[in-house]
Amino acid sequence: TAVRELLLSRIRDVADHPKPGVVFKDITPLLADPEAFAALTGVFAEQCVRHGATKIVGLEARGFILAAPVAVSAGIGFVPVRKAGKLPGATLRQAYELEYGTAEIEVHAEDLAAGDRVLVIDDVLATGGTAEASLDLIRRAGAEVAGVSVLMELGFLGGRARLEPALRGAPLEAV
Ligand code: 5GP
Repeated sequence: TAVRELLLSRIRDVADHPKPGVVFKDITPLLADPEAFAALTGVFAEQCVRHGATKIVGLEARGFILAAPVAVSAGIGFVPVRKAGKLPGATLRQAYELEYGTAEIEVHAEDLAAGDRVLVIDDVLATGGTAEASLDLIRRAGAEVAGVSVLMELGFLGGRARLEPALRGAPLEAV
């Protein structure tokens, strides 16, 4: 579609970032284009409605930027999932495997509860590890997963396959 073409045209490939051999998908041109940013917010907001989401989780850090205007537009709450050690209150913490080593993410326990249907938003699905761990956090908090929505999926990293079992039938959508 035209919207999809617009959005993808505003993602810049940056060679050798953050290390040699990696082509980084840079979304800052999209954020700087108000028409594109608004269009993306609209796409995500429509998915919120379609999946009956009652809360939005944004994944640190670019997920925060994309998810916040969606929450305001959809009229539902925004909940940050952060790298471990950043949130001040009582948290749930989840570890997950990286290519080398492990990472941990957290959510404020009181921000999610039984009865919530949560849509997870991030910019890029790479290996799927971060999104998978976020689904564990949401369910441990007692809430339900409405879906995972990203701007773009790096297909060659196999994130969709890794995430599939944790989705338990919930939709994973890329623009
Ligand atoms: P994963 O856990 O799926 O391997 O990594 C996903 C996380 O890393 C996401 O939060 C995403 O923001 C970030 N990430 C990995 N590769 C890229 C990339 O090429 N571009 C951007 N913008 N983010 C990336």
